[in-house]
Amino acid sequence: MLDREAEPGGIPRHAKHQGFGLRDLHRALSGPSYAARLAERASSGGAEIRTESQVTGWKEDGALEVTSPTGRYELEARAVVLATGCRERPRSARLIPGSRPQGVMTTSTLQQLVYLHGECPGRRAVIVGAEHVSFSALLTLSHGGARAVAMVTDQPEHETFAAFRLGAALRYRCPLLTRHSVTSIRGDPRVEEVELTDLRTGTTRDVSCDLVVFTADWIPDHELAVLAGIELDPGTRGPAVDAALRTTRPGVFAAGNINHGAETADVASLSGDHVAIAVARHLGGEPWPQPGVPIRCEPPLGWIAPNVVGADRAPPPRGRFLLRAAERLPPRRIELVQDGHRLWSGRLRRLGPGRSTSLPADWVARVQQGGGAAILRAPAPR
Ligand SMILES: Cc1cc2nc3c(=O)[nH]c(=O)nc-3n(C[C@H](O)[C@H](O)[C@H](O)COP(=O)(O)OP(=O)(O)OC[C@H]3O[C@@H](n4cnc5c(N)ncnc54)[C@H](O)[C@@H]3O)c2cc1C
Repeated sequence: MLDREAEPGGIPRHAKHQGFGLRDLHRALSGPSYAARLAERASSGGAEIRTESQVTGWKEDGALEVTSPTGRYELEARAVVLATGCRERPRSARLIPGSRPQGVMTTSTLQQLVYLHGECPGRRAVIVGAEHVSFSALLTLSHGGARAVAMVTDQPEHETFAAFRLGAALRYRCPLLTRHSVTSIRGDPRVEEVELTDLRTGTTRDVSCDLVVFTADWIPDHELAVLAGIELDPGTRGPAVDAALRTTRPGVFAAGNINHGAETADVASLSGDHVAIAVARHLGGEPWPQPGVPIRCEPPLGWIAPNVVGADRAPPPRGRFLLRAAERLPPRRIELVQDGHRLWSGRLRRLGPGRSTSLPADWVARVQQGGGAAILRAPAPR
């Protein structure tokens, strides 16, 4: 197990609030305790954990190129699982104009500063985004001694659990501005204010703050997949994976939030359990399957994971596919068709960009291997 950080455990290492481990360990732990417990489980299961070991690429023969404090080396493996997670799109990629002051960051950087280095980079923050991780940023700010003066989303409502939103409103008194976006950031040398635009009316107003935290709007950490020439899914922009989490390159699997940005940590961890079965079969000599049937989403649907149906019709992690829309949709009938034949249809209650909806997997046996892509669409209501 290779990780470029000094400690294993990924994001939960620096998310010091409670609530990790519910689905996989059936208990509520803080992020660091959860990370430590999973690392301990991996070690006691026989894995050698090498930290400060960054995988930088692949040799032509398929070996991994690793850089560590002791130097560079190559590592050959018969199976490789990419579990590099996802990250939040930073300000530069969101093309927000203004000056370039200090105090603009993602939740991940905020959490590292507060929890790993004991410093809070501001006192009055604007949080951009209103999904689970945005509320995690709110908690982090509070632990660091800062206050969120506004949470801003371009969606018509927040996309977290109602209890989180209620808690934030009551405990932290943080106003939620829906259908708003940050259209300018100003200040020198630190952030002094942001300009917010009401997307319904086009009116703008300035909000005084010294910190802007960009949350959500995920990009999978897919560099190693790209370097390996692995096909990416156009929806998730992570590697295209079948339900056993096999990529298009024999011997290379992908698990966790590289496949779906961003699910909670326990969902990522359970996909690790799931991929282990396919890895074991591969190591036991099971042949790599022929390319399966891709599942494509038509707008306004955004992505589905896993996104390929293999000939072995393996069940997906937790027996379900995860689906997101590019925008918040009211309850809607969804249909999945292949070459004009309906594979599945049903009404889904909640669909949006910030939280996944489960799609059952009972249609997988009806997919014709060798046929066209399966198309998932949300016909406009009549
Ligand atoms: C800021 C933030 C806050 C979050 N808060 C919560 C929360 O409160 N609760 C929750 O349930 N979920 C939360 N999430 C969702 C989070 O993504 C999951 O919790 C979970 O950590 C995903 O697991 P993962 O293994 O897929 O990825 P990660 O946890 O991101 O782990 C990926 C690991 O891969 C390593 N890595 C990447 N590239 C390389 C490379 N080339 N070589 C070596 N190592 C590499 C990284 O160092 C990292 O340790 C949060 C996510 C973010 C970004």
